[in-house]
Amino acid sequence: MNGNTFQIAVVGMGGMGNWHRELIADVENMEICGSFDIREERQKFAEKHHIRPYPSFDDLLADQNVDIVLCAAPNDVHKDIVIRALKAGKHAICEKPAAISSGDFKEMMHTAKEAGRLLVVHQNRRWDEDYLTAKKIYEENMLGNIFRIESRVHGSRGIPGDWRQEPEHGGGMLLDWGVHILDQALQMVPEKVKKVYATFTHVTNELVDDGFTCSLTFENGLIYMLEVGTSNFINLPRWYIQGINGSAVIRDWDLSGELVKITDWTKNDAIPIKTAAGLTKTMAPRTEETIKTESLPVVHSDVHDYYRNVMNTISGKEKILVKNEEVLRVLRLMEVIRESAETGQAVGFE
Ligand code: NAD
Repeated sequence: MNGNTFQIAVVGMGGMGNWHRELIADVENMEICGSFDIREERQKFAEKHHIRPYPSFDDLLADQNVDIVLCAAPNDVHKDIVIRALKAGKHAICEKPAAISSGDFKEMMHTAKEAGRLLVVHQNRRWDEDYLTAKKIYEENMLGNIFRIESRVHGSRGIPGDWRQEPEHGGGMLLDWGVHILDQALQMVPEKVKKVYATFTHVTNELVDDGFTCSLTFENGLIYMLEVGTSNFINLPRWYIQGINGSAVIRDWDLSGELVKITDWTKNDAIPIKTAAGLTKTMAPRTEETIKTESLPVVHSDVHDYYRNVMNTISGKEKILVKNEEVLRVLRLMEVIRESAETGQAVGFE
């Protein structure tokens, strides 16, 4: 501690390490005092930004001034870095995915308990406004009983060309993006997941998945579809939600979208659509007087609250928001997703 300011040391000053640096600069009573990266250029980068580059991870751990170690290194080294930090008496913030298996994460949780230190995973996408808006639509039953939710992230650049391409570093899109949207799904729907069916894609990479689709059947019958795609030159909407009285779409992270709800079930005179080869009333659009279009109930958030919650938990003023049991449940679910994709079968979960 420096006065009453928490001192954070970052391990892995790459893309995400730098993102933390930028955000923490705006958080009162928290500062980044140093960092360690195995790459010389990132040590220099830290120095340029007035962050002390420790010569080794051991040197960082030996600094009594450091309260929290923030691990933003590739996925395969999270376990080792976090366990060493906890054993050295530091609290630990760990990037997602917390570990590459649920067994590894259990060991990390066990070490935190033994050491009496906080271990918290950076599930920052719980603060994404598209997700919070979708969650509000679900929780407030804004479309009547909601029976299907589709959550997708689409890109067209394949897997970023580094360790994410390699299985030994915990690469692949299930671990990278899947962990976010699965965490959101389990946060949104407070029910057991009864059944899981998944497929992987390998369009640009044979060794790790470059995307997946997954269908979760919750205990209340809700079907929750998830998809990560990295070969999508036209994106499908980020969210599509169906209730018995309407549908909602959130097209993108910019929160464009709307709700369309029924106003009158009685006027049902559809004007048939004529196609080149046939005629359909079933698929004819509704007439304007039977529906209304509403704007999205946009929810705003401040992701700095993540860091404030970490500090306030350590100080005993709040309860931790991202709970390790929740993180463990997502890691277990990812193992069931792999089993389903490998066997081609739906697999039971809880
Ligand atoms: P990156 O490659 O940009 O940065 C990783 C850095 O770690 C590199 O500079 C590398 O040299 C360094 N490094 C590797 N092994 C190390 C070790 N043993 N000790 C110290 N430094 C080491 O990768 P990134 O995109 O910043 O991803 C880092 C972590 O952050 C991953 O776990 C990733 O999943 C996560 N991440 C999270 C989010 C999010 O929104 N929460 C977004 C991107 C990445």
